[in-house]
Amino acid sequence: MDEKKDELRSKLFYEQKNGYDLIDTEERLAVEDYCKGYMDYLNASRMEREAVANAIALAEERGFVPFVPGMELKPGDKIYKNNRGKALMLAVIGRKSLGEGAVIAGAHVDSPRLDLKQVTLYESDEMAYFKTHYYGGIKKYQWVTIPLELHGVVALKSGEVVNVVIGREKDEPKFVITDLLPHLAADQMKKTMSEGFTGEGLNILLGSAPYADEGKDRVKLAVMSILNDMYGITEEDFLSAELSAVPAFDVCEIGLDRSLIGGYGHDDRVCAYAELKAIFDAEAPERTCICILADKEEIGSEGVSGMQSAAFDCFMEDLCEAQGVALRRCFENSFCLSADVCNAFDPLYPEVSEKRSDSKINYGMGICKFTGARGKSGTSDASAEIVAYLRRLFDREGVVWQMAELGKVDQGGGGTIAKFMANRNIDTIDAGVPVLSMHAPFEVVSKFDCYMTYKGVLKAYMDK
Ligand code: MN
Ligand code: MN
Repeated sequence: MDEKKDELRSKLFYEQKNGYDLIDTEERLAVEDYCKGYMDYLNASRMEREAVANAIALAEERGFVPFVPGMELKPGDKIYKNNRGKALMLAVIGRKSLGEGAVIAGAHVDSPRLDLKQVTLYESDEMAYFKTHYYGGIKKYQWVTIPLELHGVVALKSGEVVNVVIGREKDEPKFVITDLLPHLAADQMKKTMSEGFTGEGLNILLGSAPYADEGKDRVKLAVMSILNDMYGITEEDFLSAELSAVPAFDVCEIGLDRSLIGGYGHDDRVCAYAELKAIFDAEAPERTCICILADKEEIGSEGVSGMQSAAFDCFMEDLCEAQGVALRRCFENSFCLSADVCNAFDPLYPEVSEKRSDSKINYGMGICKFTGARGKSGTSDASAEIVAYLRRLFDREGVVWQMAELGKVDQGGGGTIAKFMANRNIDTIDAGVPVLSMHAPFEVVSKFDCYMTYKGVLKAYMDK
C-alpha cells in the first residue's frame, strides 16, 4: 500500500534533485574541464573592455571574423561585431533563413565596481588618493580594506587610447580604501550599514612618499610622476579616462571539495562565458545563433553599449539584409535566453527567501519566468509557453535546471536585459547561474551550475 502511494507521489508531485545525483562520472569530468576555461577567462576579464577583448581573441582562434556590412553570409559562417570595445555580438549563420528567427543568448560583461571620478587625484595630509564614483549596486562597506587593482583606459587628446592595468600581476602594487580601527569606531558602529560608508568617502589610497622637492602636494606629485613614467599621462588626461578599481582577488576554487568558484564579477561573466563556449561549440546550427556580451546592464542597460542601444538592431538588420529578410520578421520568430545570474538560496540568510521558489546551489541552470519588484513591476514575464518549451528541450537534452525567483515577495527586486529584448518583439526568458553574495567583491557560484548553464545555452542554439 505504501509503495503504491509513493508511486502516486512521484507521478504527481514536482520534486527537485541535487544535480550531482543526476550526472555520471563522465559529465563530472566535463564540469571540471569547462570550469577551468571559465576560471581563466574570469581571471583575465575584470572590466567589460577586457571581457570583450578576451572573447574576441578566443573567437578568432575559432575562425570568427569581423562582420563587414554587405558581406555575403553562408550557413556555418562565423562573424562578430565589436561595439566600441565595450560590447560584443557574435553570430554563427544557420541553415534556415533569419526570417524563421534566430536563437539569441544575451549576457552582460559589466560588473559593480568603483569608477574613478574625472577629477580624481588629490593629496590630503601628505597622502595621495583617487576619488571614486561607484558603478552599479554595491554595499559600500564591502569595498573597504580589501586589495584593489586598477583597470581601464585613458583617451589622450591626440586620439591615442592608453590601456591601464595596475595590480593584476603578483609583483605589482595594489590599492586600498582604509577603515577606522574598532578602538575609535564607537560612533561609526552606531550607524546603519547604508550610512556607515558614504560614496564620497570611498577614496583610494595611492601613496605616501613625497617627491624630493620643495612646494605643495609633494606626494601627489610623486604619484603623478610615476603614472607619467608608466603611461605618459598627465593629471588633465584623467578628464577623458575610464579607470576603475576592482577587487584584486584571484579567481579560485572554494570548499574542501572544490565544488565552488570564488571570484570578482561572476555576475555576469559566468553567463557570458557560457554563451561564448556554447556558440563556439554550436556546429552547423539550423537557426542562426547570436551571442551578445552587453555592457551597462548594472546601470539599467542604458547608453550606446547597453542593451537598449540600437547597436543590436543595426547588427541584426545588417544580417537580415544579407538574406533579404525584414528585421521585424526575424525578431518576431526569434527566441532569446537572457543569460543572467540569479540569487542562490543562502542558508545563512533564509529570512529573505522563499525556499520553494529560490534557486539552489547545484540544482542547475536557474530559469526566471519573471524578475521585477513588488507586483512584478518592471519585468517582461515570459509566457507559460516559453517555459514549457524549455522544459521540453532541457528534459530531452539532459540539462539540469530549476525555477528561480528573486527572494520573498516584496523583499526587494531587480531586473536584467530581458525586458529590453522582449520589447523588441522577441520571446525572451531569463536563465542563468545561481550566485551567493551577488554584487560583492568576491562572489561564489557552483561549478555544476556553471556547466549546466553552458549546456542549456548550447542545447538552445542547436535545437531545430
Ligand atoms: Mn547580472
Ligand atoms: Mn548584477
